[in-house]
Amino acid sequence: MNMVENIVQVNKLVKNYGKVKAVNGVSFKIIKGEVFGILGPNGAGKTTTLEMIEGIRQIDSGMAIVAGYDVKKQTNKVRGVIGVQPQAPAFQDKTTAQEVLELFAAAYGKKIDSLGLLAKVALTDKADTYTERLSGGQLQRLSIAAALVHQPQVLFMDEPTTGLDPQARRNIWSLVKSIQKQGITVVLTTHYMEEAEKLCDRVAIMDKGQIVTIDTPNNLIDALIKRGFKKKKQVSQASLEDVFIDLTGKELRD
Ligand code: ATP
Repeated sequence: MNMVENIVQVNKLVKNYGKVKAVNGVSFKIIKGEVFGILGPNGAGKTTTLEMIEGIRQIDSGMAIVAGYDVKKQTNKVRGVIGVQPQAPAFQDKTTAQEVLELFAAAYGKKIDSLGLLAKVALTDKADTYTERLSGGQLQRLSIAAALVHQPQVLFMDEPTTGLDPQARRNIWSLVKSIQKQGITVVLTTHYMEEAEKLCDRVAIMDKGQIVTIDTPNNLIDALIKRGFKKKKQVSQASLEDVFIDLTGKELRD
């Protein structure tokens, strides 16, 4: 039988900061191999949820299981099977892109083909460049590569394209797709709905510490239309972003 495998299971997760219920009873399952998006306004609890699953923030109550490991009891096991791309990647000064990957690999006790990995994220020509000299898009790509050095089963990405130009954003999208093709499950947060529609097999929408809905983008859109929703303006066949990409091309600048 072809059973769906849940690589992440989250049950009634709770995190309070004083009176603030940052995460207030969140439950969901992530299917192995999918790209799962967590959407929600500022302060909804997305980062807190991710970091509890990653074993970075303590869980007040509830449970998270990743690749069969209980995050509360087997935190180190979980760390070994996940890759984490933080919201604001920070690297040591005077360290080159290649050295960053080698340091990360060493932390996992692994030897890696650092140049091969840099090639995968289109940073071959930046191998010897100090990280302080990299652009925002390049830093994002380096932090993705760093999160992959130990060949994790699940990659967590917190707002991977925030602050990037449209070319760099598209480049990250194709990188996420290729990571998914390698069999890695991807869990990401984003404020960009176009990004969620293009990348995510399923999305969870969070608000005020709770999950409002979970489904495929298509099903959520169909359900909205069934509820009688109509756009006031006729849907345009192109957007300003389409104009921008048409005039400036898809090629990466940085
Ligand atoms: P954003 O989209 O702005 O990144 P988010 O959905 O990721 O938001 P969180 O960062 O998880 O939201 O924050 C959820 C709530 O918890 C917010 O009200 C936030 O102020 C609060 N919060 C988060 N971290 C802490 C902390 N370390 N101490 C106190 N309150 C916190």
